[in-house]
Amino acid sequence: MSKFVEGRVVGRRRWTERLYSLQVDAEVAPFQAGQFTKLALNINNEVVGRPYSFVNAPGQNPLEFYFIQVPGGLLTQRLAMLAVGDAVLVLPNGFGFLTLSEVPEARHLWLLSTGTGIGPFLSILKTDEPWQRFDRVILAHGVSHADELAYADNIREFTQQHGEQFRFVPFVSRAETDFALQARIPEALTDGRLEAKAGVTLIPENSQVMLCGNPNMLRDTTEALLVRGLKKNRRHDPGHITLESYW
Ligand SMILES: Cc1cc2nc3c(=O)[nH]c(=O)nc-3n(C[C@H](O)[C@H](O)[C@H](O)COP(=O)(O)OP(=O)(O)OC[C@H]3O[C@@H](n4cnc5c(N)ncnc54)[C@H](O)[C@@H]3O)c2cc1C
Repeated sequence: MSKFVEGRVVGRRRWTERLYSLQVDAEVAPFQAGQFTKLALNINNEVVGRPYSFVNAPGQNPLEFYFIQVPGGLLTQRLAMLAVGDAVLVLPNGFGFLTLSEVPEARHLWLLSTGTGIGPFLSILKTDEPWQRFDRVILAHGVSHADELAYADNIREFTQQHGEQFRFVPFVSRAETDFALQARIPEALTDGRLEAKAGVTLIPENSQVMLCGNPNMLRDTTEALLVRGLKKNRRHDPGHITLESYW
């Protein structure tokens, strides 16, 4: 069991009323892009820790985490109040299997996320591996309102650096915009809008799909993918769908 180390908040961004990023200076062991660690605070003499994905690429300093303040949430209420200079506990290791090392070879990589579930995909996209392994990389991000489409700068950079190899498909479910699909990801997968917007077909022969975020999106998207003949990816039984649920 690893023990928490003390990190220091060196940057903070409040994207919306409830969405925050924290930059944290802490010594951590090498991890893989897509993995998570735990952040913790001492609350009423108890160390309360929860998992958070690294948004930064391995080797980048400071560490970065992107979280939503859950109404009534024990830890996130406090994380949201942290200021530059404050201490935060960090487990110095990466965990989890939402990594490209778990993903079999394919031509196209689909990264489908909701809300803060975009975080691990940003970490993956900041590394060289997806660009070396896949002809096309499609990142979908589903949110309720357009101002929740965080990290636009990063996404612009991926587009500038990788051109046609990269496609970003935003989803804004509760408002009409002139740039995003007004739908939920599984719905747009089933009716073909996601593929049309991406300019790529999603078939088992050439696709690997990674999913992260809201458990309902994960469940419904997995169902839609199974209907298309894709199957869950397991170490001893490789498939096409690799996922991580945030709750
Ligand atoms: C592997 C893993 C990685 C995770 N990475 C992140 C991350 O990078 N960013 C992040 O914001 N959260 C992430 N989470 C969720 C996070 O660990 C906490 O559950 C969340 O921050 C709530 O903590 P809390 O103590 O404030 O709420 P609690 O008092 O523990 O309440 C938990 C409840 O909050 C709700 N909830 C949890 N996470 C979310 C969420 N992201 N959006 C909306 N509702 C939620 C659920 O209803 C859950 O049952 C991750 C979870 C897992 C399992």
